[in-house]
Amino acid sequence: MAVGAADVHDVTALEVADQDRAARSGLDPAGGVGAGDPRGDLGLLVERSPHPLAKPFGGVICDGDEHLQLAPHDRGRVGSNLNVGAGSSYITAMQLVRERERIVAAACRLAGDGQVTGTAGNVSVRAGSLVAVTPTGGALGSLTPEQVAVVDLDGEQVDGELRPTSELGLHLGVYRRYGAGAVVHTHAPYATSLSCVLDELPVIHYHLLALGGPIRVAPYATFGTDELAEATLDALEDRAAALMGSHGAIAHGPDLDTAMAQSALLEWGCALYWRASAIGTPRALDPEQRMAVVNAVIERGYGTTQARAG
Ligand SMILES: [Zn+2]
Repeated sequence: MAVGAADVHDVTALEVADQDRAARSGLDPAGGVGAGDPRGDLGLLVERSPHPLAKPFGGVICDGDEHLQLAPHDRGRVGSNLNVGAGSSYITAMQLVRERERIVAAACRLAGDGQVTGTAGNVSVRAGSLVAVTPTGGALGSLTPEQVAVVDLDGEQVDGELRPTSELGLHLGVYRRYGAGAVVHTHAPYATSLSCVLDELPVIHYHLLALGGPIRVAPYATFGTDELAEATLDALEDRAAALMGSHGAIAHGPDLDTAMAQSALLEWGCALYWRASAIGTPRALDPEQRMAVVNAVIERGYGTTQARAG
């Protein structure tokens, strides 16, 4: 994954991350630095973030927050139907309590931002070999942690009141193939609109390099099918996000904050393309311009706060 003049045509944020790690570690990037990293590693632009475009995630105020107040002794306990407490008051501990709480807050925010409507869209977080994922048929703006399903990487449900999303196969595929830590799938309006028209979203703004390069549009397939999952997984190769033809968008990251930020960045990029197209033909950055961005990020530490000189 060396970055050089001979292969600037395929510079991605992932490569930048490798190069940067190599610089910090003194290792040769061609020697496989980062080879063991999950594909969900989103690259330098985000690795050093939060990305300038990404709103910090957390502390979301919404109706779902009332459900986040679990008893302190219940937090972090593992074991479905594990009774804890004393006397006649028993509390049923849930698997992946924190992950489920955060999914509820993320889903609420997606709904509030208009990235999902009704029961559309889904969010998941992986913790080791388990995955917490939004349920099928649940409105993302009003979920409770108890409704968030927990499955293993084979899709076997181990906790949760409701069945997992119909796109579970897609989520699990992202974890298996790219080693991600979180996945966000939306029907965000601009991304979905472009998915109905484009075959690829070009890099018309340098911030989009944080997603890894031009964003592919996976061919249309029926929701919830293996065909859709496979096509989308292919479109995610070396990318943190993809569009799903005539369907929506997907983003992943090493954690939920990053996946949410990438999802928001993709929607921003799609809105940008839409607006630019209304007044002319958007210009894509050429490989040389993209490489210059990569180098500038490395040299200047773009996107990070820096102590003043002196
Ligand atoms: Zn969908």
